[in-house]
Amino acid sequence: MGVEFIYPEFEVIRNEARCITCRVCERQCANEVHTFSAARGMMLSDESKCVNCQRCVSLCPTRALKIVKSDCVLRENANWQNDTIREIYKQASSGGVLLSSMGNPKPLPVYWDKILINASQVTNPPIDPLREPMETKVFLGKKPEKIQRDADGNLDCDLPPQIELSMPVMFSAMSYGSISYNAHASLARAASTLGILYNTGEGGLHEDFYRYGSHTIVQVASGRFGVHEDYLEAGAAIEIKMGQGAKPGIGGHLPGAKIVGDVSRTRMIPEGTDAISPAPHHDIYSIEDLRQLVYSLKEATAYQKPVIVKVAAVHNIAAIASGIARSGADIIAIDGFRGGTGAAPTRIRDNVGIPIELALAAVDQRLRDEGIRNSISLVVGGSIRCASDVVKAIALGADACYIATAAVLALGCHLCRTCHTGKCNWGIATQQPDLVKRLNPDIGSERLINLMTAWRHEIMELMGGMGINSIEALRGNRLMLRGVGLNEKELEILGISHAGE
Ligand code: SF4
Ligand code: SF4
Repeated sequence: MGVEFIYPEFEVIRNEARCITCRVCERQCANEVHTFSAARGMMLSDESKCVNCQRCVSLCPTRALKIVKSDCVLRENANWQNDTIREIYKQASSGGVLLSSMGNPKPLPVYWDKILINASQVTNPPIDPLREPMETKVFLGKKPEKIQRDADGNLDCDLPPQIELSMPVMFSAMSYGSISYNAHASLARAASTLGILYNTGEGGLHEDFYRYGSHTIVQVASGRFGVHEDYLEAGAAIEIKMGQGAKPGIGGHLPGAKIVGDVSRTRMIPEGTDAISPAPHHDIYSIEDLRQLVYSLKEATAYQKPVIVKVAAVHNIAAIASGIARSGADIIAIDGFRGGTGAAPTRIRDNVGIPIELALAAVDQRLRDEGIRNSISLVVGGSIRCASDVVKAIALGADACYIATAAVLALGCHLCRTCHTGKCNWGIATQQPDLVKRLNPDIGSERLINLMTAWRHEIMELMGGMGINSIEALRGNRLMLRGVGLNEKELEILGISHAGE
């Protein structure tokens, strides 16, 4: 028996009394769920193709549609659950590795939800961000160990190259190819207006976006797609991607079907060729090798650009971060195991890596213990969902956060988790021209700006409540955090006390 005999995961509920057979749902669904039957004069649904992206539900003019998770389940038990059985059937049918998109959905602990923030009461009064100055600006890059003065006593203000951000959030790497031109345009424009940075990912930089260079991080990954001198010069910072939270230890694979037109030109590979990034950089097998690449990139850009090294959060992340800090990199970016992706093997995504909260706390502590915390800035990502996650991350020791899933949600993503199919009905994770045009970059950038503006206000309110008026004063201030429902070991790693203490 093949997987096709399994009852579909979702059911399309169509209210026939409301349906006016306008066929909008048929035109909007790239998965071809809806068809019009002239013989029966009604719409029909092939639910086996439905991924629950909610596009039809959102655009149905009469609210005739509803997609629900099917309550027809296999004979599951506590050990053999519905999804596990389905996966077995799928693999027995295909013989292939299971692929997924977006971040790890497993019910593992989300430590952000087990950490609570302090507020000032009576002494050390709170600050009202509407009436009093509050600084959300941050600078990323190496800082001096101590204040330096010249012979005349003047401050030495010469710093290594820094990234200036109006707030401690950036848009994380998403490559052109994995996401659409219009999604990139939305991110680039929003970052530029907001005074933050977005990240090219490993797909190169389309020539139309060079004008946003001062708000762009250009990535150098193991495949070196789209990397050339002008590209390196174009960005405000260069990121060496060693790993990614959704798929630590493996490379990337963008199918040839997506390497078309501008994507192929931007990546500098022929149309239709699979873009395969190797798991390792073939020139990096030690911190010394990494140091060579860091300095090659600095040399290539006249030491004017900070270099970021991005790694996935894994078991020995503190030691790895210590090595990266000594490699000459200016910024380390750590991606937790809930980080999103356009495509990853399901088993890797769901079982490899560690939570960003624990990785962050461990790295910050290690760098402090070794006296090298100022020599590198720390950026964390891998499921930063809201302003309070940002505040908790800063208090745990981060200088700034990367967001990607939250950003694509703002663009209209409905987390259907089928980015790898290239049929994103919201025009985000697709290269199909008819789908790409569904995302209007004017609206997309406006929604990203709205989201970040809202988060900035919330960050200021949370900081004000603590009596703190700058991100700098919040950074690494773990006294502002308390844990709930955490065991001794977890509290020890996070470096925070339990609520009530
Ligand atoms: S979009 Fe709504 S009203 Fe139009 S055909 Fe589909 S279900 Fe019917
Ligand atoms: S980006 Fe598109 S395909 Fe990917 S999860 Fe979101 S809606 Fe689905």
